Amino acid sequence: MDGDQMVCRACGRTERASEGFPCERCGTFIGQLCNLAGVNGCARCVAESGAGPMGGVPRAPSASGTP
Ligand SMILES: [Zn+2]
Ligand SMILES: [Zn+2]
Repeated sequence: MDGDQMVCRACGRTERASEGFPCERCGTFIGQLCNLAGVNGCARCVAESGAGPMGGVPRAPSASGTP
């Protein structure tokens, strides 16, 4: 019975689809082992967000030039 396998987009290993989680940004599959290890996103999204644990900081407020 191995019809429940998907490739984890964080580490590239094959993990159980029913136990995995979606990437918090793009929704692709992340394996349970990676999620338990603190990985909430796929390799691409983590790289784009700068590997920050908070998942990216919104635009910093600029105190100058406000209308
Ligand atoms: Zn993984
Ligand atoms: Zn992603």
